[in-house]
Amino acid sequence: GSEGATSANLTDDQLLGGLLTAAFSPQSCRSRYEFAGYHKRKPPHKPSPYLVAKLRSHEALQKRCGPGTAPYDKALRQLKSGDGAAAADGDDDCRYLVSISYNRGLGNRIIAIVSAFLYAVLTERALLVAPYNGDVAALFCEPFPGTTWLLPDGGRRFPLRHLRDLDGKSKESLGALLKSNGIVSVAAGVNGSTSSSWSGRPPPPYVYLHLDGGADYHDKLFYCDEQQRLLRGVPWLLMKTDSYLVPGLFLVPSLRGELERMFPEKDAVFHHLSRYLLHPANAVWHAITAYHRDHLAGAGHLVGIQIRVYHEETPPVSQVVLDQVLSCARRENLLPAAGNTSSSDQAVLVTSLSSWYYEKIRDELGGGGGGVHQPSHEGLQRMGDTAHDMRALSEMYLLSTCDALLTTGFSTFGYVAQGLAGLRPWIMPRRPWWEKEAATAVPDPPCARVATPEPCFHSPSYYECAARRNYDDIGKVVPYVRRCEDVSWGIQLV
Ligand code: GDP
Repeated sequence: GSEGATSANLTDDQLLGGLLTAAFSPQSCRSRYEFAGYHKRKPPHKPSPYLVAKLRSHEALQKRCGPGTAPYDKALRQLKSGDGAAAADGDDDCRYLVSISYNRGLGNRIIAIVSAFLYAVLTERALLVAPYNGDVAALFCEPFPGTTWLLPDGGRRFPLRHLRDLDGKSKESLGALLKSNGIVSVAAGVNGSTSSSWSGRPPPPYVYLHLDGGADYHDKLFYCDEQQRLLRGVPWLLMKTDSYLVPGLFLVPSLRGELERMFPEKDAVFHHLSRYLLHPANAVWHAITAYHRDHLAGAGHLVGIQIRVYHEETPPVSQVVLDQVLSCARRENLLPAAGNTSSSDQAVLVTSLSSWYYEKIRDELGGGGGGVHQPSHEGLQRMGDTAHDMRALSEMYLLSTCDALLTTGFSTFGYVAQGLAGLRPWIMPRRPWWEKEAATAVPDPPCARVATPEPCFHSPSYYECAARRNYDDIGKVVPYVRRCEDVSWGIQLV
């Protein structure tokens, strides 16, 4: 067992090829060094030495700037006094990115935090998370040694009291500041290039980045070099998003070079970042490993099926969706033939809010073999409920231990599982959530193997800043950013 383990004898596999620091005690957070053991396959990609070096220096930055340090106190004082000018001008001053969690599903909250983390690394800011109902602390271990990534007091005593009320209408948003012209002026430089400034004034002490699905044209100017330059001088950035912004960051010319160096293999960005940053807390990890041991570990081949249905029925069941799952599984040979499971060492893990699909799949396969398993059936999605979130997180991690994945399109829950696994799933197309009507026929084909384990970014900016018009085709700007297979207006890294 790992009882006596010390970080001194951790293997390269446990450290995910150098991705993880050995600076933590293994007992404090078991998942951190144990997760690697749950993947039979060799990881598809090793992290680049450059990424590893960036992570080590970011850890030093988090420690130097984190809550309780002198630079943190100084930055807080400046925030209170509303003084942006003096901030970030001394050598040991620090700049911050606060990622605000809010009422979105756990998959959305996870891809948001991963996105914020990458942006913090790129812009050399300390990442702090403002949790949603204590979610982050209950679900995850601390990712950075010798400091905390949690905004103290859950943000309750943070000088900006209204953190959670920030939204697309807030006057402190980058979009609003750009709309009101007076604050930002764009001046033509000597060589004809344009440069922007805060109208000759010092930068504001904080700017809110509204990057959720509802972001408008001005909010999305965030993805322009000019605005990136502006933001550099702002000590505090507050970010609210429910999306996987990373493909959008690759489209910002001034960020691209660094990103390409960090990630020579573009389809492993979420894989590396999530495995670096997210470590289920001991209570969650206990649930994951116990379920795995009792139901899944004996299987030679494990197939994960993630079924997500949006239309408003309670519990959400749909014969069409079941038919789609079975038709995909047959067509792609994902499941053992009916009645043949006893001769197979294949097991199936089903996740869904409803137990109905699980029962039907179990009946279809006729039991036997490694069996069909479903850890929970929560009925309805709930917000701000930690025990409910813990079960959702467990299931994302259990799915990520599978050898093959069949997921539902458009679902960030599935994205997290496939990304953690580094697996290209078979994905079932489905209608967007705002179409309340259930589908009446199985799409043809019922599913397709996607080109990448990367999550889809559902709300990219189509504006090509330098050209001052929209991209001709956002899926053709760079070879490794394409339109998503499940969401036609989204983009993903391949
Ligand atoms: P998305 O809405 O499909 O993009 O995924 P999210 O994770 O953002 O939101 C869905 C939420 O519903 C999850 O976070 C869970 O709270 C709940 N949920 C949906 N599907 C499942 C499931 O298969 N298992 C569990 N335990 N919860 C689920």
